[in-house]
Formats: sequence, C-alpha cells, structure tokens
Amino acid sequence: MPMDYTAQQNFPTYTTHDNKVRKHLTLEIYEKLYKKVTPNGVTVDKCIQPSVDFTGKIVGLVAGDEESYTTFAEIFDPVLDDHHLGFSKTDKHPPPELDADKLVGGNLDEKYVKSCRIRTGRSVRGLCLPPSISRAERREVEQVLVDALAGLKGDLAGKYYPLLKMTPQEEKQLIEDHFLFQKPTGHLMTNSNAVRDWPDARGIWHNNEKTFLIWVNEEDHCRVISMQQGGDMKLTFERFSRGLKEIEKLMKSKGREFMWSERLGFLCTCPTNIGTGLRCSAHIQLKKLAKHPKFDAIVVGLKLQKRGTAGEHTAAVDDIYDISNAARLKSSEREFVQLVIDGLKKLIEMEKRLEEGKSIDDLLPPGV
Ligand code: ADP
Ligand code: MG
Repeated sequence: MPMDYTAQQNFPTYTTHDNKVRKHLTLEIYEKLYKKVTPNGVTVDKCIQPSVDFTGKIVGLVAGDEESYTTFAEIFDPVLDDHHLGFSKTDKHPPPELDADKLVGGNLDEKYVKSCRIRTGRSVRGLCLPPSISRAERREVEQVLVDALAGLKGDLAGKYYPLLKMTPQEEKQLIEDHFLFQKPTGHLMTNSNAVRDWPDARGIWHNNEKTFLIWVNEEDHCRVISMQQGGDMKLTFERFSRGLKEIEKLMKSKGREFMWSERLGFLCTCPTNIGTGLRCSAHIQLKKLAKHPKFDAIVVGLKLQKRGTAGEHTAAVDDIYDISNAARLKSSEREFVQLVIDGLKKLIEMEKRLEEGKSIDDLLPPGV
C-alpha cells in the first residue's frame, strides 16, 4: 500500500455486506492499521479481504500469519468477542486437555450414530498461513509434517498421499468416503486467495485403517482427524489425543512447533476456529426428529451445529446429519467432546420418544 493515500481513500466500500468486519471496522481503527505490516509482510487489507468480496452473512476475517492476530488486534479482538459471544481482551482460553479417560459415557447407540469424527486445525509456527503463504513455504509445511508423521508407530503408522500423485478416481473415492477434502470453493478460501497453486503441496496422510488422518495444506496447514465407524466417541477421542500429542513431540524433536497463544489457544487461518480448533461430530440418523418443527432450535439450544452428510454446505441424505459442537473457544477439548456426547444422547432420547409417538416437550433445552 503506497504511503501517500489516506485511510479514508482506501477504506472498503460496504453496501449490503453482512459481516463482522464491516460491523466493527471503523475508519479510526482502519487508520491505525492500514499501513502496518507483520514481520511476514501481511497487511490488514489481506486479512479483511473476505469481508469486502462477499456480501453474505460471514465473519469476513482471515489471518495471514501468526502475528496477524496481534498486529491487527484492533479488528481481530472485537470480531473475536462478537463471534465467540464474549471474549474480552482479558479473557483467556483454557489450556489443552486431551484426556479421554475423563469422559463420561461416550459409547453411543449405533442404531442412530453411524460414525464418529474429531478434527482440529494446527499451524506450523514461523510459516505464513494459506491466504499469504508462498509456494515454497507451503512445500515446507508439507515437508515438516511429513517428516514428523513418518515417526508415528503402531496403529498410528501410515503413509502420505500427495494430491499430485493421486489419480482422479482415487481422489474421488477418498472424498466420497468422507476421508479427503475437496478443492475449497467457499468464500473464506476463495476470497482470501488461499486456494492458489492447487493441488501443489496438498495431500492426505493416513494410517492403514484410515482412522487417523492428516490433511495437509487445505484451509489450515494441517487438520488432524480421528474417525471411525459406529458410535464409540470415547475411543475416537483417545486416538485423536494420543496421535496429536505424538505429532507435537515428533515436531519438537525436529525444532518445530504449532502456533499457540496463551490467550487465544491454537491459531488457525479462520478466527472462528481458534482455541481448540476442535470439531467433534457424529453422523447421526434422526428420521423423526429431523422433521420436528423445533429441530433447528433444539440443535442450537444444545450448543451444537448441524451440517449435511457430506459436510459443510451440503444437505442431509436419509436424515443423516453431521452434528458437532458449535464453538471452538472458551472450553477445553475434553469439555467440547463431552458436550457433544451429552447432546447426542439427548437427541437419541428425543428420537426414541418420537418413534413411540410421545411428546418431547420435557426434553427441550431451555428457551426452545
Ligand atoms: P471439517 O472442515 O470440520 O473437517 P467438513 O464439513 O468440511 O468438516 O467435512 C469434511 C468431511 O468430513 C466431509 O466428507 C464430511 O462428510 C466428513 N465428516 C464429518 N463428520 C463426520 C462423521 N462423524 N463421520 C463421517 N464423516 C464425517
Ligand atoms: Mg471444511
């Protein structure tokens, strides 16, 4: 940004835009930020670009590197506070808690719960995030991860499959089986220019069983995923936690670590994912409840989120929904998994009631 333009001259034109950046970015804040650059050369304009190029209801902010969160705190903080329903400058995300033994319950009725999945996003410290990453840095992310993952042993041991070496059929099959990401088309990734150079340095690492999988260079540097058929969420979390701790250890032994802040927890590309980065989901079939007029409100009332059978922005097939925790920040990993387990139990209880033709009024969450 040449130094001879004023903040006013360069301020975005928002019209019908409905996003959190537009809501919180005053000219005064922009004035303070528009000439700043992070050590990696990231500008505030880079971070707010999705808010300008998409008019729909979104957050509209991305991080180009770890320092974006602090260098541009004047816009990140109010957006975080708004999106995460209260997270002030003095609030702190709790420390990591990856302890499956402390879960209560967690083996869910397989008549309803078809599969369990827990994922998180992680970023490699010192390298730019996807909106600002260079090709060389992206390849370095891939190398750092693949080097660390090669040290996994036992049930976690596996292999890396770069997209560049996959046949279109192999790629399609992995996507259809819910293991692999698709080339992102959503506003967050496209409007932040994070899908450049596709499929260079993108790929998936997985163990033989495909129960522990790592996505490389999709929306985050990596997504760590534990998944399995059936309803054993506790075991899914046990493997997730063990694998994640092991990867951290292997990275540390090579002088690498994940981006983490004492206040914000783990840092991701999208500020909605910071904290735990954890989305714990079940594919659950709710033939009756899905047709109930209060279904949407029940899901929200239980602090859950619903997606379709093939993930975000898709529809449910055979009334199979992807039900997960809605938030990522302010609770620990174990607490979010517990919340999902408790919520799923409640949904199953409601479904059974409806199967018997009985009312669910006494089971509704408060305010629904
Ligand atoms: P995320 O970005 O949180 O990883 P997406 O909504 O993009 O999730 O979905 C990614 C893939 O994971 C999709 O194929 C989706 O169907 C699959 N998936 C999510 N939850 C489950 C689950 N519990 N069981 C099986 N597949 C799942
Ligand atoms: Mg996704």
